Amino acid sequence: MSEYQTVVGVEVHVELCTRTKLFCGCSTAFGGEPNTQTCPVCAGLPGALPVLNRRVVEFALRTGLALGCAVAPVTAFDRKHYFYPDLPKGYQTSQLFLPICRNGTLEIPAEGGGRKPVRIRQIHIEEDAGKLVHREQTGDTLVDLNRSGVPLLEIVSAPDLCSAGEAVAFITALREILLFLGVSDCRMQEGSLRADINVSVQAPGGEAGACTELKNISSLRAVRRAVAFEAERQRRLLKAGEAVQPQTRRWQDAAGCSTPLRAKGAAHDYRFLPDPDLPPLRISSAWVARTAAALPELPHAKRLRYQSLYNLPEQDALLLSASPAIAALFEEAGALSAGAAELRELANLINGELLRLLAAAGRPPEQLALCPAQLARLAALVSGGTVNRTVAKEVLEQMFYHAVEPEAYIRQHGLALLADPALLAGAVRTVLQEHPGAVTDYAAGKEKAFGFLVGQAMRALGGKADPQRLRRLLREQLEQAAGR
Ligand code: ZN
Ligand code: MN
Repeated sequence: MSEYQTVVGVEVHVELCTRTKLFCGCSTAFGGEPNTQTCPVCAGLPGALPVLNRRVVEFALRTGLALGCAVAPVTAFDRKHYFYPDLPKGYQTSQLFLPICRNGTLEIPAEGGGRKPVRIRQIHIEEDAGKLVHREQTGDTLVDLNRSGVPLLEIVSAPDLCSAGEAVAFITALREILLFLGVSDCRMQEGSLRADINVSVQAPGGEAGACTELKNISSLRAVRRAVAFEAERQRRLLKAGEAVQPQTRRWQDAAGCSTPLRAKGAAHDYRFLPDPDLPPLRISSAWVARTAAALPELPHAKRLRYQSLYNLPEQDALLLSASPAIAALFEEAGALSAGAAELRELANLINGELLRLLAAAGRPPEQLALCPAQLARLAALVSGGTVNRTVAKEVLEQMFYHAVEPEAYIRQHGLALLADPALLAGAVRTVLQEHPGAVTDYAAGKEKAFGFLVGQAMRALGGKADPQRLRRLLREQLEQAAGR
């Protein structure tokens, strides 16, 4: 079956985190009581006129420039007509003829290593629709217009992706960039980032078959499964000599399959026309230049910098640069760290324990309230041998949940490692006397016996010895014993 190539294009809709909506002053906050964030403009009442939110244009420019797009000197809005109860105007204000950005690139990690450029066809601004709430008990449907008029960017890729994994990598890379640009919170579970996926398969040596579109997929796991399912479904059809119908399909996540929604429409079905209420918008080259100059460092550049400047492994650099809050914490604490060993412990603490704590608490990184200076000091306590990594995890957990101060907590709970050389040497000597069998085994070359003796010595010291130091002491005494 592998001779059929999968061809995937992605359209991402992302809700922008402006305070107010695209064409009115209503709040965009998520989760309000139904229909409390509406006005005549976003409720589509006759005679209401839209006023463009300047910040939305700013966010679109930022995104386009970060993705290497060309910015249109003049952009304009169009009406896309369709009827649906969550769309009170009977049309969505969008951009078809003069989208704000075109022809960019997003690099994703290639499956065989290295980076793969994926073309961005265009980025346009449009408004979100309201939400329908279907009530099972009564069988009726309610309309909530809080989301109506919330600004969206639609980012459209060329069909350059070749697998479910690449579709996931594309959305992941795009999401990271949008987070660093500060234009969206990109919460897929709250619907602020949704993907429509176009899938077709290409017969060996032939051209790509008809394409189907999977609408509104709202998790990466669903993206992966939906693309894999759809490509396989199309392959089966083609192998059986049947045609793929160009359709819009719905991904049924629970059932793990896609089902037809409607035949795929063409653009002319929507009767697009320039919106007479919104004059074309001129974007000055000075505005573009100012926005470009103010772009933050993007995740991939950060990654490379962490690897070269801090000499971190690629995997560590990837984790540290996956969210702005984590990257900021690492950079602020890193600036207070004294050397390579401390930085390594810092990276370990963040990538290991801290990410685990965040996941366990179900908290997004931006809600993290951890003092960078305290974290840097904890890393220094580990690299300096005052506490071991197991204790550091416990301290970090207390810092995370109870905002304790690391040194005070270590002192109060007697968690510092034993530093007295005579005490350590004495404990090791006692263990060797108590386990002559293990000493003989070690002399006979059984490395297992060494691990046993380390464990016994650690236990005798209440787990409070620096393991490195203990191993060194034990080796020294064993060599001496063997030499005698
Ligand atoms: Zn409004
Ligand atoms: Mn759209």
